[in-house]
Amino acid sequence: MTTDILTVADLKKYFVIGHSGILKREPITVKAVDGISFGVREGETFGLVGESGSGKSTVAYTTIGMYRPTEGSISFRGRSLFDGNKERPLAIKKEIQIVFQDPGSSLNPRRSIKQILELPLQVHRQDENRLEQVVRLLEMVELPPDYMQKYPQMLGGGEKQMVAIARALATDPSFIILDEPTSALDVSIQAKIINLLIRLQNEFHLSYLFITHDLSLMRNVASRVAIMYLGKICEVAEAAEFFRNPYHPYTRMLLSSIPVISEEEEKLKPKKIISTGEIPSPVNVPTGCSFHLRCPAKLNVCSEVDPVMVEIEGQTGLARHTVRCHLYGQAG
Ligand code: SF4
Repeated sequence: MTTDILTVADLKKYFVIGHSGILKREPITVKAVDGISFGVREGETFGLVGESGSGKSTVAYTTIGMYRPTEGSISFRGRSLFDGNKERPLAIKKEIQIVFQDPGSSLNPRRSIKQILELPLQVHRQDENRLEQVVRLLEMVELPPDYMQKYPQMLGGGEKQMVAIARALATDPSFIILDEPTSALDVSIQAKIINLLIRLQNEFHLSYLFITHDLSLMRNVASRVAIMYLGKICEVAEAAEFFRNPYHPYTRMLLSSIPVISEEEEKLKPKKIISTGEIPSPVNVPTGCSFHLRCPAKLNVCSEVDPVMVEIEGQTGLARHTVRCHLYGQAG
């Protein structure tokens, strides 16, 4: 049985962004992540998909330790990532790496590629044959050794992202968070980066948490897909099941508007669903199901009661398809 390498349990991350009232005593809180649970299995790509403001990047930044959870837990190989106020041990930091969306701003322009790739080796005390290790890292991402003399501004967007991937690999991690790793790149380069990530995953048995707004990208990349909306997960399934049998009205709406390339994909695509209403502000999330203002299938109960996640039977014989909607197995 495949075990989870990362377990997120009832995670909440709230931000106080100001105060209201005459005496400015009432905190104005954004519930960026509001009670989500999922696990990432060893060697898989878990796709976390959502529109801007859904909270998906907050999950990434909390996992790497930039934020502390408001409530809930994240554990890695069964060990909590947040042990009181203690600094995360170096051995765990080394295992979990991140590749950011914009390689232009994540690489220091004053450092050469050699210096950029040497830094994590120094921090994690991998002192032996450092130059050879830098050459090896460049090889892994299909860049020639002489690139180590260059500076980030001398590289194209795809090459910068390859360096960012090499930097993430420098600590020999087992888990990498990919935070929109291709969305700042030209379409022609995106495929190259995706193929590189897939090859590296197979070669080094990496587990990926792949964060994206681009659901169509997940069709050929993810093992499982989760959809986030206003801080909550509304549906999770194996990718094959997910694209064949989407249940949640929001998932169906997203799938109905993504481009498809094959006839089979066209057949599976839900009929075009036009959303009604605007995306609510995360400061003012509606009561009940947070999607009810836009949902074409809403029931009377939806504006009052927030649905809970339930497991339903998938139609492709694949295990575990969970959905958070009153249409399936709960009050309604
Ligand atoms: Fe739509 Fe109601 Fe389901 Fe929310 S709970 S997605 S409003 S049907």
